[in-house]
Amino acid sequence: MAPDCKVCELQLNPPEGGWYWQDEHWSIGPHLTTEVPGWTVAYLRRHASSLSSMTRAELESMGPALAKAAAAIEAETGAERVYLVLFGENFPHVHLVLIPRGAQVPPEHRSSRLHVYAKEYVDPAAYREVGERIRRRLAAAPTR
Ligand SMILES: [Zn+2]
Repeated sequence: MAPDCKVCELQLNPPEGGWYWQDEHWSIGPHLTTEVPGWTVAYLRRHASSLSSMTRAELESMGPALAKAAAAIEAETGAERVYLVLFGENFPHVHLVLIPRGAQVPPEHRSSRLHVYAKEYVDPAAYREVGERIRRRLAAAPTR
């Protein structure tokens, strides 16, 4: 755990309701600052500030964990695309954001612009309800 790292603190104090899913290296749960239905984050459990400082085991487990999360998000949101984003600007601890893009999103809001327009899609009740469905689906999904 790194001092003053909010993502490390989150590993000790999981979000309300607990993680959607965890394995040895990853904690998958809700996006905590954007209440758009289906926005999900895969947090590396150990502190590492970039992909280049991850271990081989962490890197090898990343693909299967992300694919499992994407499959659950696709199934529960009907998204045409699931975007994957790693910035690390506000919280410099590896966490990958999975962003479903539904058919209702117009072309001018797609791709990287969806971050700019995210507030137009905030729906706290649906965000919690879809999150619970993603949690249940991940719990029932076979290990990849
Ligand atoms: Zn950290």
